[in-house]
Amino acid sequence: MSVTALPGFPRIGAHRELKFALEKYWKGKISQQELIATGVQLRGEHWRMQKERGIEVIPSNDFSFYDQVLDMTCMVGAIPERFEILRSHLNDLDLYFAMARGYQKGTEQIPAMEMTKWFDTNYHYIVPELSSDQHFTLRSTKPVDEFIEAREAGLITRPVLLGPVSYLLLSKSSAPATKTISLLTNLLPVYAEILEKLISAGAEWVQMDEPCLVTDIDSDVQGAYQTAYQYFKNYQIKIMLTTYFDGLTDVLDMAVKLPVAGLHIDLVKSPEQLERVLSATAPDKVLSLGLIDGRNVWKADLNSVLQIAQKAAARWDTTKLQISTNCSLLFCPYDLTQEENLNPELKTWLSFAIQKLDELTAINMAVNGKIDQVQEYFANNTKACEDRRTSKAIVDQNVQKRVKSIQSSDYNRQSDYCLRRKKQSQVVPLPVLPTTTIGSFPQTIEVRKQRAAFNSGMILENQYKEFVKREISNAIQIQEELNLDVLVHGEFERTDMVEFFAEKLNGFAFTENGWVQSYGSRCVRPPIIYGDVSRPKPMTVEWTTFAQSLTKKPVKGMLTGPITILFWSFVRNDQPLDVTGTQIALCLRDEVNDLESAGIKIIQIDEPALREGLPLHKSAQNQYLQWAVNCFRLACGGADDRTQIHTHMCYGEFADIMKAIVQMDADVISIEASRSGMELLKHFSDFSYPNEIGPGIYDIHSPRIPTVEEYINLITKALKVLPAEKLWINPDCGLKTRNWDEVIPALKNMIEATTQTRKKL
Ligand code: GLN
Ligand code: ZN
Repeated sequence: MSVTALPGFPRIGAHRELKFALEKYWKGKISQQELIATGVQLRGEHWRMQKERGIEVIPSNDFSFYDQVLDMTCMVGAIPERFEILRSHLNDLDLYFAMARGYQKGTEQIPAMEMTKWFDTNYHYIVPELSSDQHFTLRSTKPVDEFIEAREAGLITRPVLLGPVSYLLLSKSSAPATKTISLLTNLLPVYAEILEKLISAGAEWVQMDEPCLVTDIDSDVQGAYQTAYQYFKNYQIKIMLTTYFDGLTDVLDMAVKLPVAGLHIDLVKSPEQLERVLSATAPDKVLSLGLIDGRNVWKADLNSVLQIAQKAAARWDTTKLQISTNCSLLFCPYDLTQEENLNPELKTWLSFAIQKLDELTAINMAVNGKIDQVQEYFANNTKACEDRRTSKAIVDQNVQKRVKSIQSSDYNRQSDYCLRRKKQSQVVPLPVLPTTTIGSFPQTIEVRKQRAAFNSGMILENQYKEFVKREISNAIQIQEELNLDVLVHGEFERTDMVEFFAEKLNGFAFTENGWVQSYGSRCVRPPIIYGDVSRPKPMTVEWTTFAQSLTKKPVKGMLTGPITILFWSFVRNDQPLDVTGTQIALCLRDEVNDLESAGIKIIQIDEPALREGLPLHKSAQNQYLQWAVNCFRLACGGADDRTQIHTHMCYGEFADIMKAIVQMDADVISIEASRSGMELLKHFSDFSYPNEIGPGIYDIHSPRIPTVEEYINLITKALKVLPAEKLWINPDCGLKTRNWDEVIPALKNMIEATTQTRKKL
């Protein structure tokens, strides 16, 4: 008989208990014991929940107070040197938080470890920093402790460890020339120690997550996989080698032959790999089938899923089969039944983490010949899927017609960049090295208070609007006094750059409690795209034109791009992503037109998530970039030549997407660059980037106010790689997380540095 198994469960809690406990602890409002008790309680509840719902292989050590990668870093004792001085006065948990969040006490200031996106998800992990001769020692027994905690509650769990090869590949080396993978032999003994301890505690299985197996890996890394898992063969514990987020492709034959007891594969993202895995794997191996989507909110189509499971069951010893989600449920909201305001029809189509446990159990029963016991469940599922397929609520004929009638010319501006530039400079003459900001100004406590008051009905719409207008007027006045060249309205009316637009578009739904962890205590609540997307009326025109009415200087219209709206939402799985992206792009295209007609001369379309959608395998990347770029081009293709289109992205990794960035053909792109010391501008000059660029020179993540000299230094560096005519001067990103006391002097210095540099040109 096959069993149900889970690679990981959400840890933030049904009501974000972990978030609130963490934040209270950091503010000194609860003790460390209280925080730890919250952890114990959440783990206990989550284990009970899984057991009650029929999960047989339950994970442990999938819980984390901040991040599972940082947990591993602490376990293997890879504490970066700058934190060493804290060891004497901080306990382990506080040291851990210092590594995640940075440490400041009096004059002591230790920057946090870097954070970056976890594969192609919106979860962020803390990047391990390893020296070229990094030593590892076992410094924490968290996986064992949590295994014992579960055992004492009567459960033998399967502890989850991030596998050693993926751990190293996800790390960065303080000596950039050395490959972190060369540290494998130093690292393995520490893993062995933890395995020994798990064995002594009574663990039979351990789950080793090796998501890097589904990226393109070279022969060195393949060798590392063999070394690592050969090494573990000597330990009396069964390893479930766990892959997710994509298929094994090129390395499938190597991966299935690694000497481990089990292999977990993602059959949601890569169903086609099942056939090859079944043929190439030795029959004594346990196969864990990732059948239910842990990264989206839709009910599975149980009949199709059952077919896949049965195909495997026909060819595999079913005592060696596990029925599982494709990846941890970390990326999924907790419980659908908590949603009281969702449209009831839509609600029947959805399944959150807890509901997915039931789906696993039902499939497993069916595989094991007990379909009669889940007949009703299956019938309801069939009905829900059928309803969704045929529902009128998701179809908008006008939208579909419009998508079909897109012409290739719709993707292009009227003229090429050179001509556009000429025309634009006639409409809006700008000095050399024009100065601007990225869009948002401080979201002060007052701004958030007023929005909350409005949302809860305590103040009227008019009162709220008046308040926002006062904020805008204030921001415009400040920008004029600072003498910025291109102004913004400040985005005070937006909680979030995606939610704001999603709320104004048809085809989106919103949850009350659908939180997923983004990093640490930070959660996001992505909207759900369920139907064809259209724009009933202009979304930003009122605020932008109000701001423009207050000044003679140009005010940038501020839009979130189609790809960012797409990837920061739960997406439809019943049509290709590019179709949904195209629908959103058409809405933005109309918004661009309306802004233009209202007299707005410069429009910025932010695409910070462009890179996020990049497939893990290189072979699929071009195709993605092509449609993603097309969506952007469709959004701005209708703009008049005289309208200057900006875009913005907030990361520094451009090397592999430069071609796409050029193809986007924005008149101006602003990027995050201050931390890399303008290093990444090299990509733009190597690629002879034809249009204008604003590399950020103010690190908005830091409360520090850069001096005039620092700015001049960065501008000078930029001028070494790019001609002045191409360069804009701006911060790295929006300023919403900073306060005015930081923003005003920081921008003042930025303008002063620009003025001084201009004189020397
Ligand atoms: N315009 C947005 C802002 O200024 C951009 C934010 C982002 O790139 N993440 O806040
Ligand atoms: Zn940004």
